[in-house]
Amino acid sequence: MELGDLLRFTHCGNTVFTSADEAGLRCPVCGQAVRFALSEAPVRIQCPIRDGHRASCCFLVTSQSGAIGLSEEKESELHVGICNSEGLVFSYTELGVQCQQQGWEQSIIIPLVAPSNCIPDFKRRWDAQLEVFAALDTWTPDRFQEEREFGSCCYGFALGFINQVMMSQGKQPISRECFTSEYVLPRIESATRYLSVFQHVCRHGYHCTGQRSDWNSHVSWGP
Ligand SMILES: [Zn+2]
Repeated sequence: MELGDLLRFTHCGNTVFTSADEAGLRCPVCGQAVRFALSEAPVRIQCPIRDGHRASCCFLVTSQSGAIGLSEEKESELHVGICNSEGLVFSYTELGVQCQQQGWEQSIIIPLVAPSNCIPDFKRRWDAQLEVFAALDTWTPDRFQEEREFGSCCYGFALGFINQVMMSQGKQPISRECFTSEYVLPRIESATRYLSVFQHVCRHGYHCTGQRSDWNSHVSWGP
């Protein structure tokens, strides 16, 4: 399954989703040529699953089952990590901290720094702090097992780093519950909805819902 952007538009009483690549000017539901008023121009929905190695200073969520594992509907185990400014991903596993240049090509990327603040000086500090944090005695293979019952250890590593950066900037640390509900879950929900529509588009060429779809009001895509 090659992921890609989707196109959403309203026609003949339906909200229609098609692949952004093959968005012809014909509505797949009624077969008629489509002309849009400016107010109803098609909306491009960016694929929320992207290459974590092309991200900079972000929190990443991936799944060993591939992109589809990022859907809430699958009971697959998620893995999280932090990338440095060059897309090198640090994560805590049962082998200790891994530092990977590949394997995170299909990730949900959670940016934590406003692009305007991601200046070279900030990136240098982020990278240096990450190296030091990853080298701490805390992240040994044996402790990974030990701490498992308190929740995902990779999550503890990644959030621990975020909090260290926050504190070094004089900010309050963020709790696991708060970080999860504010930053992680909304993006997993977006990815879940995207994947469900995308799979339907792959199988049937398009996906349509009734006009009173709640897509417009409740889903925000991308960063
Ligand atoms: Zn139509």
